Amino acid sequence: MQFKVDMELCQGHGECEMEAPEIFRVVTEGGRGPSVEVLLEDPPESMREKLQAAIRYCPNRVIAWRTEDSGGS
Ligand code: SF4
Repeated sequence: MQFKVDMELCQGHGECEMEAPEIFRVVTEGGRGPSVEVLLEDPPESMREKLQAAIRYCPNRVIAWRTEDSGGS
């Protein structure tokens, strides 16, 4: 499954990590304040619901499906 994160707009709230800790981790080092690190660039189909939840609950709406995956199935 392909998705993207707009790192410029991520503020490191961490909802994505709570929903899908296998995929996202919030990191605080780096001097720009917290932001998210993607642990799994291409998570397996079995994680679809977790990824969907992370997309839904990200307060900044910065996680999105890549177009070819947007339809779900
Ligand atoms: S929930 Fe959204 S804004 Fe918060 S850390 Fe994850 S991607 Fe960034």
